[in-house]
Amino acid sequence: MSREKDFGITDVAAYAEWMKLPENVRKMLLANAFCVNCFVTSFAPGYAIRKEKYGLVIEGYCDKCGHEIARVCD
Ligand SMILES: [Zn+2]
Repeated sequence: MSREKDFGITDVAAYAEWMKLPENVRKMLLANAFCVNCFVTSFAPGYAIRKEKYGLVIEGYCDKCGHEIARVCD
């Protein structure tokens, strides 16, 4: 079964870690993504959280143009 780009599905463990972050940090991360079209942008609703070896990754779409974006929570 291939995993299509369904950003609605979030890794449960990753989501738990995400929710441990203070709300202001989460808001900052969601509001400071980088889009190749718009530069600094924010995530559109429906993003997903994934856990990678280097940390949590937010995946979703640009709120302005809909381009696919992702950022590491560092
Ligand atoms: Zn954009």
